[in-house]
Amino acid sequence: MFSGKTDELLRQLRILKHSGKKVALFKPIIDTRYSAGEVVTHDGVKEQAIPVELNENGVKQIVEKTLNEKYEAIGIDEIQFFPEKLKNAVLFLLDNGVEIYASGLNLNFRGEPWQIIQELMPYATKTISTKAVCSVCKQYEATRTQRIGSNGKPAHYSEPEIIVGGKDRYEARCVKHHEVPGKPKTEFKV
Ligand SMILES: [Zn+2]
Repeated sequence: MFSGKTDELLRQLRILKHSGKKVALFKPIIDTRYSAGEVVTHDGVKEQAIPVELNENGVKQIVEKTLNEKYEAIGIDEIQFFPEKLKNAVLFLLDNGVEIYASGLNLNFRGEPWQIIQELMPYATKTISTKAVCSVCKQYEATRTQRIGSNGKPAHYSEPEIIVGGKDRYEARCVKHHEVPGKPKTEFKV
């Protein structure tokens, strides 16, 4: 978030397109801020994208569309939102010779790893980390996503991991300024 990860994904896909490859970009239907058929980065860069639902049907659509249209490389934006079935789909497409580029966040609003990211990361040929600046101190590297509820307060730990079409606000935060009320403290025992 605000780290330029979508820009980096678009940049990679553009290079492939220029090299003559048949490329497509998929994105989850979660973000209705922008037009449904395109991905728009925070800098306003636009690229055509195929919107898919965040369920097994959406995953199936990625596989079918890629094979039917004979895409040689595909990009998937915001993969953290997809269900676990995406792992199976990605491995299947890789076996079929499709190059896959994905962008996603490591941690959810609670500061805990997204499952699908944890599962897919070890298969990556290459990972690129992009950086965001903490919205509070502007000094440190923001590795956390702060969810702020419609009441203007930090979202409670017990809130759902994904809220589709919610009015919540998100900010990039460093570890020090990440607030999650209700989050259990880590214990260490030997
Ligand atoms: Zn900070």
